[in-house]
Amino acid sequence: MLLFELRTEVARYARKMYDSQLVRASQGNISARDPKSGLICIKPSGGDYESLTAEDIVVIDEHGKVVEGKWSPSTETPLHTLILRRRHDIHCVMHTHSFYASAFSVVHKPVPVILAESASCLGGEVPVTPYKRSGTEEFAELVAEVLGDGAAVIWGNHGAMAVGTNPSHTFSVAHALEDSARIYTIARQLGDPITLPSQEVHELHALWLEHYRLKAADHA
Ligand SMILES: [Zn+2]
Repeated sequence: MLLFELRTEVARYARKMYDSQLVRASQGNISARDPKSGLICIKPSGGDYESLTAEDIVVIDEHGKVVEGKWSPSTETPLHTLILRRRHDIHCVMHTHSFYASAFSVVHKPVPVILAESASCLGGEVPVTPYKRSGTEEFAELVAEVLGDGAAVIWGNHGAMAVGTNPSHTFSVAHALEDSARIYTIARQLGDPITLPSQEVHELHALWLEHYRLKAADHA
């Protein structure tokens, strides 16, 4: 089977997304690129997260053409491929419907950086796109533009997306976003949350990226 290890990793992190309630039912999706071949392993459209295995993961090229797989790729394939073509610093894209990030998506409010751990992962405030129906090239362009060179973006009236160097890194980003959205919402009931200074956020994020770069070098 082509790219067996990466497909296994994508299936494993897809199940972790489901188990940790970043997604429910068959919602959301994940893709990861093999840096050597440039091929992308992506969750199939629909299907049951709990029983997802490497064989269910579809291998596509950078334009979304199926190279190997028994199912159709995710309906959000145009977005995954566009982000991965534009961003050479990341190799994984994760789309979630986590509760608190989704709550921010319906009020079109960016998620501020209020926790040191989240600052490391997110590197700055997480912006929100206006509402647009997903699954099209036009939507993909909008999300890619608002994401810019960031680690995450909220889709107006829909959910969220995280990007990272691999599934493990991206899973941390998705949880950092959800934790920030959740703690901010709770903290607002206690008083006025205080955001972290931007220089501190910048430095924490740089240290975290360096940590992942060194870890990746260890495994190379
Ligand atoms: Zn969705």
